[in-house]
Amino acid sequence: MPDRTESESRKLLGRLSAVMAATSVGQTRLDRIVQLIATSMRCEVCSIYLFRDADTLELCATVGLKAEAVHQTRMRLGEGLVGRTARDRAVTNTANAPAERGFRYMPETGEERFSSFCGVPIQRLGEVLGVLVVQSRAAREYTPDEVYALEVVAMVLAEMTELGAFTGGEGGLSPRHQRPITFRGLSGQEGAVAGRVFLHEPRVVVTNPISDDPDRELQRLGASIERLRAQVDEMLAGTPAADGEEVGVLEAYRMFANSRSWLRRMEEDIRSGLSAEAAVEKEQSHARSRMGQASDPYLRDRLHDLDDLSNRLLRILTGQGRDTGAAMPDDPVLVARNIGPGELLEYGKGTLKGIVLEEGSVGSHAAVVARAWAIPLVIRASGIVTEALNGDLVLVDGEQGLAHLRPDDTVRKAFEDKIAMLARAQERYADLRDLPAQSLCGTVVGLHMNAGLMADLPSLPSSGAEGVGLFRTELQFLVRNQMPRRAELSALYARVMDSAKGKRVAFRTLDIGSDKVLSYMKPQDEPNPAMGWRAIRLGLDKPGVLRMQLQALIRAASGRPLTVMFPFVANPGEFRLARAEFNKALERESILGHPLPSQVEVGAMLETPSLAFASYAFFREVDFLSVGGNDLKQFFFAADRENERVRRRYDMLESSFLELLSGIVGRCASAGTPLSFCGEDAGRPVEAVALAAMGFRQLSMRPASIGPVKSLIRRVDLKEARKVIDDARIRGDESVRPALTEWLARQP
Ligand code: PEP
Ligand code: MG
Repeated sequence: MPDRTESESRKLLGRLSAVMAATSVGQTRLDRIVQLIATSMRCEVCSIYLFRDADTLELCATVGLKAEAVHQTRMRLGEGLVGRTARDRAVTNTANAPAERGFRYMPETGEERFSSFCGVPIQRLGEVLGVLVVQSRAAREYTPDEVYALEVVAMVLAEMTELGAFTGGEGGLSPRHQRPITFRGLSGQEGAVAGRVFLHEPRVVVTNPISDDPDRELQRLGASIERLRAQVDEMLAGTPAADGEEVGVLEAYRMFANSRSWLRRMEEDIRSGLSAEAAVEKEQSHARSRMGQASDPYLRDRLHDLDDLSNRLLRILTGQGRDTGAAMPDDPVLVARNIGPGELLEYGKGTLKGIVLEEGSVGSHAAVVARAWAIPLVIRASGIVTEALNGDLVLVDGEQGLAHLRPDDTVRKAFEDKIAMLARAQERYADLRDLPAQSLCGTVVGLHMNAGLMADLPSLPSSGAEGVGLFRTELQFLVRNQMPRRAELSALYARVMDSAKGKRVAFRTLDIGSDKVLSYMKPQDEPNPAMGWRAIRLGLDKPGVLRMQLQALIRAASGRPLTVMFPFVANPGEFRLARAEFNKALERESILGHPLPSQVEVGAMLETPSLAFASYAFFREVDFLSVGGNDLKQFFFAADRENERVRRRYDMLESSFLELLSGIVGRCASAGTPLSFCGEDAGRPVEAVALAAMGFRQLSMRPASIGPVKSLIRRVDLKEARKVIDDARIRGDESVRPALTEWLARQP
C-alpha cells in the first residue's frame, strides 16, 4: 500500500477516534462517521447497515441516500447486494450495481442514481455485524487501496459496534450482548438449572482499535510475536516425537508464527492506523471467513491453526484470556465452543452447574463426563460463544436442549416452575430409592448404573443402583496424555471396587478406536472408524494393553469377585481369544503369587447384529451378555450414532429391532445365560418398560435415570405391557411406540 494512502487512512482513523472520544449518543456518532468516510473517500454515498436481529440488516446511517430511509430500509441476510456482502462475508465491488445479480432496488433510498457500489462486511472474529457501503455516480470499480482502506475502517467499526458505541438515540439499535436470546440446541444430558455464564475461553475485548503511534504498535506486535514463537517452541520441545499428530499441529503453528506474509499484513494494518490488537483481529476475521468457505479439509485445518494462533497472540497482546483469573461466578454454567473430557475434568466435580456447547455430540466424552456429574448439558447451541458474556444469566434446559441467555421475566418464571416440578419429581424418586423395581405383576428388574470415572461412584448409593452394569474403562485412558501404568490402573480399579462396597461392577475392557481416540496412540487413518479397528479387535491384535489391563483388574480384585466384559465382540472366536487372554493372565498372576479373585464372571457385549445370531454353544459359553444398544442400534439401522441428522430417524421401539431383541432374549433364556441391556435407551422410562416386558431382567443406565425408570416400572404390569407390544407387532405396526405410550397414558 503506497504511503500516501497509508497516511490518509491514518488520518481518517484519527478523525474516527475523535468522533468516538466525543461523548454523544450512538446515532450522532454514526452520522458523523459516514460523513467523514464519504469526504475522505470522495464518494457520493456512504452508508452503514447493522444487524437489527440475526437475519435483518438495517440502514443505520447514510450520507447520499435519502435521510428518511434511515432505520426504515431493511433487508434480510442474502438479500440485495448489502445482504449478499453480509452473507458471503466478502467484499462486493462493482462498477454497475443495478446490473449485478441480486441487486434490489429500494425506492425509499433513491439509490438507482448510483452506479458503482462497494460493500465491505463489518466483522469481528468471523461474526458479521453489518456492512459498510460506499457508492458513486460514476461507473468505476474501487481500487484495491480504497477497498483496503474501507476494510480497515470496517474493522474499527466492528470493534465500536461490539463495545456498544452506536446504541441509543431515537430508533437506534439496542446494545449488543444485552438482549434475551434462546439458543436451540440438542439435549446432551437432562436437567434444568439457572446459572451464570462462565466462558471456558473468555472473549478478548479490544478497547483501542485505533492508534496514532504506529511505531509503538509495531514494536508491541514484534515483541508479542517473539513471545508467541517462544511459546510454540516450548510446546514443541515438551511434546514427545511419538505424538505425531500433536507435533504436526505445532509445526503448523511454528510455520505460521514465522510466516513473513502474516506478519507483513498485520504490519500494514498497523501502518494504516490500527492498533496491534485490531490488526491481529482483522487478519483473524479474514482467515475465519475463508475457513467458512474452504471445502478442502486440509486448508480448513490450517486456517483453524491460524485462528488458534491468532487467539494466542491476542491474549499475549491484551493480557486477557483463560489465565486472567477471571472470577468464577456463583452457579457457573460453562459455555464453550467445544471441550475435551480432560479439560472438563479439570474443573472438578461439583463446580459447574451446567454446560452449553456450540459443538459436541451426544456420544462425545464431554457428554459422558456431564452425565457422570449429573449436570444438564446442551450441545449444538450455535452462536452462544459470541453472544454470551461472563456473568450473564443463563437457563439451561437439558430436557429440551435449550439455553435461554439473559431471559426475560416470563421465561424466567416458566423456568422456575419447571425447576420446581423437576425437584418434586426428584423427591418422589428419592422416596423409591430403597424399594425394588418391581412391577405390578411381581416381576423384579435389576437396575444398575453406568460409570467410567471415580467421580461416578458416589452415585451408587444415592441413586439406588444395585451395582455398576457397565464401567467404561477407556475414560481413564482418554483423560490422560500418556498411557496409564499398570500399578496406577490397578489402584484405581481397587478404589472403584472399594467404593462399590461389594456390589457388582462389570468392568468393560478398553473400547478405543472409533470416536474414542487416545492422543498418545498412533492415529489410524480409517475411512469408517466405527466399523474399523476398535475395541476387542485392537485388543486382540495388540494384546499388550489388554494384558496389562486384565492384570490390573485381577490385582485390584485381590481375593474379591471380579466381573469383566469384552466390548464389540462380533463372533464367538473373538470372545474365545479374549477369554483365553484372561485365563492366561489369571495363570500368570497365580504363578507370581498374587491372590486371585474369589469368583470370576467373563461376559461379552452384544453390539453387532452378527453376535445375536451366533451359535447356541456361544450363548452357553459366556457367563453373561450385555446388549450395547447404542452400537447395536447403529449397526442394525446403519445409522451413525454420532450423526445427529440420521441418529433420530430410527427408534429402539421399531418392531424390527424388537424382533432382534426378542431373539437374543430367547437364546439367553434357553441357554440360561444372564442378560442385561446397557445402552442409553435403558435409561428412558418408556424404552425401559419395553425392555423389561421383552424379558430383560437387568438394565444399566446413567444414575439419574434410575428414579424415573423405577417409578414407571413400579406402576405397570409388565405382562400387560408385553401383550400391548406383541399385539402391535402382530398387527404389523412399524413401531410399538404409539401403542405402548397410549397404553402407558391410560395407566393410573
Ligand atoms: C453401547 O454401545 O450401547 C455401549 C454401552 O457402549 P458405548 O456407548 O461405550 O459404545
Ligand atoms: Mg458400544
